[in-house]
Amino acid sequence: MLTRFIFSFIILNTASAEFNYKLFQVTATTFEQKRALINLSKSTSNEFVETSKVYSLTDLVLVPFEFVNATEDYFITRGMTYEFLDPRDVLPATTFHSKHEKFSYNDFYESQIVHKSIIKMVNCSASKPDSPVRAEIFSFGSTYLKKSMLAFRLGRKDVDKEKSPVILIDATIHGNEWIGPPAAHKIIEQLLFNATGHELMKKFDIIVAPIVNRDGYDESLNSFHPYIHGRKNRKPTKDGCLLRRNEGTDINRNFDWFWNSTELTENPCSENFRGEYPNSEPETIALSKLMETSKLIFYYTIHSYGNLILYPYGNTDEKVHNFENMRKVALAGKDAMESTFEIEKPYKVGSSLEILRRTSGASKDYAAGKLKIPISLIHEVGGRRPDSQPRVEDIKTYVDIVWTGFTAMANKVAELEL
Ligand SMILES: [Zn+2]
Repeated sequence: MLTRFIFSFIILNTASAEFNYKLFQVTATTFEQKRALINLSKSTSNEFVETSKVYSLTDLVLVPFEFVNATEDYFITRGMTYEFLDPRDVLPATTFHSKHEKFSYNDFYESQIVHKSIIKMVNCSASKPDSPVRAEIFSFGSTYLKKSMLAFRLGRKDVDKEKSPVILIDATIHGNEWIGPPAAHKIIEQLLFNATGHELMKKFDIIVAPIVNRDGYDESLNSFHPYIHGRKNRKPTKDGCLLRRNEGTDINRNFDWFWNSTELTENPCSENFRGEYPNSEPETIALSKLMETSKLIFYYTIHSYGNLILYPYGNTDEKVHNFENMRKVALAGKDAMESTFEIEKPYKVGSSLEILRRTSGASKDYAAGKLKIPISLIHEVGGRRPDSQPRVEDIKTYVDIVWTGFTAMANKVAELEL
């Protein structure tokens, strides 16, 4: 059987229409030809070489114009057949999203556009004297690339901020999980303008941090390999990796809770690299601090994919404190989502060790284990693979699913009187 490879010479660093590349579809049938493809992809003499880990799809080579002739020679001398494709027919449509458009639930947008849109909504709400909502916009840190990490605190004008229990919602700790920003945007929109949201804030103040890993997210959006690129932050790892996109730390393995205790994540180039020491990353530090907000009762972190709601722990099968209540809250979310929407794959509820695999240094485990936040859950949104970037036509449904699940869980938290 033909083994096939994807690799490219350069990451698309712009989503604009200028497209200075040619896309080859090349076929390697013999062992020598396959070896030649691997060698080409591993070549360090060309700074543009990028290799994908996806070795089973199709043979695509994206080449800047100036290397097209050399690449053709390389294939011809090895007897490999190839043809040219229009990149727009082949690459994920999301690779070509616009940098300059206004936010909508019909596409994915860079962090700055998402933030701008949320700020605009907050300002619009603030300009309405009859709105019951009070809102604060603040930066809770900055990323390795010095981008501001924004959070939005929403509550009701008629509820005392000091007395209200607080929910912290974050999204996009993993930059390649693109449902995070629109899901967070939707939650804020509903809290600002929707009666259910207004009702919910009689019980809680709600802080939303839509894009924790801004650097990884923006990088991922503009990548030729968005599925696997940008999960980690962009701080270069000390040892360096052959490919720049493999640099960085998995923020969700970097929290100070049984850090590096269960997985083999010492390799700085692995997708799950845990960092040099616990809390070594600016994004981890900033989010850990935000979790220390007083009266925090529920930490809810949005990831994708899998249709899962998971409670701690990932590092041990010991039951988390407050286990019964965490399970009740998670099940309330599952029931609400499944009774309101046709969910393509039933939600699973359990500890992340039970349902997924052994992990350590995750934010939800830190929130529960170290900070003893009463309820701490991760929501893995979307049932189809690869839903780390859901199809653009699914965004609207997914954000509604998240809002429904979140409100049911928050109402359950209120009911439990923790
Ligand atoms: Zn994730």
